Amino acid sequence: MCSLLCLTLAQDLPLVFSSFSSARAYQHCVNILKFGPRVSESQGLIHTQKYIIGELAKYGWKVHEQKFKSSTPIGGITFTNLIAYYAPDTKTDFQLANKIISCHYESKYLPKSKKPFLGANDSAASIGVMLEMAQLLSKKAPILAKSTNFVFFDGEEAFGSRMHYKNNDHKDGLYGSSYFAKAYQLHFEKQPTYVINLDLIGDSNYKVLLSKTADAKLKETALNLYKGNQKQDYSFNLSKAKLNILDDHIPLHQAGAKVLNIIGDFQKMSYWHHHEDDINNISATQLKAIGVFTLDLLHHL
Ligand SMILES: [Zn+2]
Repeated sequence: MCSLLCLTLAQDLPLVFSSFSSARAYQHCVNILKFGPRVSESQGLIHTQKYIIGELAKYGWKVHEQKFKSSTPIGGITFTNLIAYYAPDTKTDFQLANKIISCHYESKYLPKSKKPFLGANDSAASIGVMLEMAQLLSKKAPILAKSTNFVFFDGEEAFGSRMHYKNNDHKDGLYGSSYFAKAYQLHFEKQPTYVINLDLIGDSNYKVLLSKTADAKLKETALNLYKGNQKQDYSFNLSKAKLNILDDHIPLHQAGAKVLNIIGDFQKMSYWHHHEDDINNISATQLKAIGVFTLDLLHHL
């Protein structure tokens, strides 16, 4: 009886995911951009932290704040990763789940930019998608919510002009994900833990890429789900990245997690790391398509 019910619920889940609200995900993006640049340690980032924590609390999620200090080319900086876990009752304590959806939530430090750099696609769009996913899971799929963390990394961006990273000994960039990966390396080595990282996913004019560095089965599952539903919901153009992409999934892969990075084809985006990366690049339809696709993938892990 129970197993039949569980099976029915499992089969119905993708239908539930179609109630993902493109308008709410888009509005989160608009709200976050109003805080201005979100450089690490800035007032804009502190406002963004409060916004993320406040929104998640409305849906029954709590946030474990992981603070650490690191040296950077512009001096010592205190970074804060936000790790959200579903805790509808007050008794639930933080523990790392075996399914993780992540993105970076700070914006790049660009002091010479003509206008303030807001990073709408890089990466407020991902934050908006993740907040709506958290809302939907808590309401419609609480069992899946309990086995999922939403992780918001600080310090993905390099402070210098180019990211410089080597074997988890970070030089510039990937600060938050490197710290998170080191802190939980033992967990990743002992238990299969899936990490799906989202970056620059809000613009419908560009291909969406699946990273070269990825867990083979996770990547294959993603491609099969896409092929099976391309015409209905997954209106974006998905392909395999041909080149290695340095992003927050790399330190996690090195620590033993099963990773996949889902990222817009940023090298084709003329506004990438320029002040033109504003709300005009964001498509609400694209946010929903990526959100539903990611939930579908999460459900199949
Ligand atoms: Zn960036």
